[in-house]
Amino acid sequence: MLRKNRLFTPGPTPILPAAQTAMASFAMHHRTADFRALFSRVLSDLKQFIGTNNDVLVLTASGTGAMEGAVSNLISPGDKVLVLSAGKFGERWRDLAKAFGCEVEVISGPYGETFSLDEIRRKLTPEIRAVYVQATESSTGARHDVEGIAKVVRASGDDTLLVVDAITGLGTTHLNVDGWGIDVIIGGSQKALMIPPGLAYCAISERAWRRMETAKSPRYYFDFRKERKAAAKGESAFTPATSMFAALSTALDFVRQMGDGDMVAGREALVNNAELAAAMTRAGAQALGLKLFSPSSPSAALTAIKAPAGVNSGAIVKEFRESFAAVVANGQGEMKGKLFRIAHIGYYDYLDTIGILAALEQVLASVTATLVEYGAGVRGAQQVYAKSITQKSQPVGAR
Ligand SMILES: *Cc1c(COP(=O)(O)O)cnc(C)c1O
Repeated sequence: MLRKNRLFTPGPTPILPAAQTAMASFAMHHRTADFRALFSRVLSDLKQFIGTNNDVLVLTASGTGAMEGAVSNLISPGDKVLVLSAGKFGERWRDLAKAFGCEVEVISGPYGETFSLDEIRRKLTPEIRAVYVQATESSTGARHDVEGIAKVVRASGDDTLLVVDAITGLGTTHLNVDGWGIDVIIGGSQKALMIPPGLAYCAISERAWRRMETAKSPRYYFDFRKERKAAAKGESAFTPATSMFAALSTALDFVRQMGDGDMVAGREALVNNAELAAAMTRAGAQALGLKLFSPSSPSAALTAIKAPAGVNSGAIVKEFRESFAAVVANGQGEMKGKLFRIAHIGYYDYLDTIGILAALEQVLASVTATLVEYGAGVRGAQQVYAKSITQKSQPVGAR
């Protein structure tokens, strides 16, 4: 059959068609009144999307650029920091903190699991200058308890900052950024905001801005104070990815439309959409006899599914691509070959979700020796969907 190329990866994710059109025809210079108006509108919409009153910055970089800035701007060499790590992205925090000369304490959970709040409480001594964590760990599909972690960190006082990589958490998880006291929260354009890679964004608390007055690590491109000053005038310190701002503005309009003109309602609808797609996918995979990689704390961002015994997940990924031009993600690092990952971040609807599960049945039939009961995975997902309709939590989608 004809095959349409489709991304089911936890970044980049499918692009909103209207955002693609907006980028394609964009030709504004970044030091003009028109661009300053666009830039300021995007920052103000992003504040609502994140759900914060803190200042928001947009950086021309992939998500990791903002992660690096959240280390270099906040710590001085020799500072003690605590990294909560249960996957490849947690390990990125550890490596970044080491690269900037931090004394790094790590609480590590097994891949696929999350952390004990008691252990965090025990390790959180007054000398810890910052705690770094993911909202959702995209390498394992696990969700971490950001609210619980924030409670522990805030109880330890104002000298410890909480930095959350919510690059796949924003738009897939309900997060109360200011209420919980998150000091830096980070997102990326190629995830829930449905546009290509190229922009990272973050919201920064007053506590964190104060820390920057004394932090001594070297920084230049990712100097947050310089960006804040420029942003107040509707500009970026350097040349921003201008056409990406056009795309971002269109994507934020789309989210607002999902909430019938209300950005907060739109964001909640986007999160609920991911939650439902994830619940359908978990039910479908389990109905096919597959095991989830993160069963105890699954995220709505993506579902990591274990390859059946004796099957390398690379063969599953390859078969999805070759037969259906569907791109799902293999495991990363030590998890490569053991699991595959299907994303629910951003622009996915009912048909995408049902379609990938139907394809999964075909893929399993080709790569395993066992008999596949066609329709079992799809049925499992449909039952979850049907239940969500009767519960009146109407799924949302493109108009
Ligand atoms: C995608 C992602 C990142 C950022 O990766 P980049 O390639 O730098 O955009 C960071 N953390 C998580 C949890 C992610 O999913």
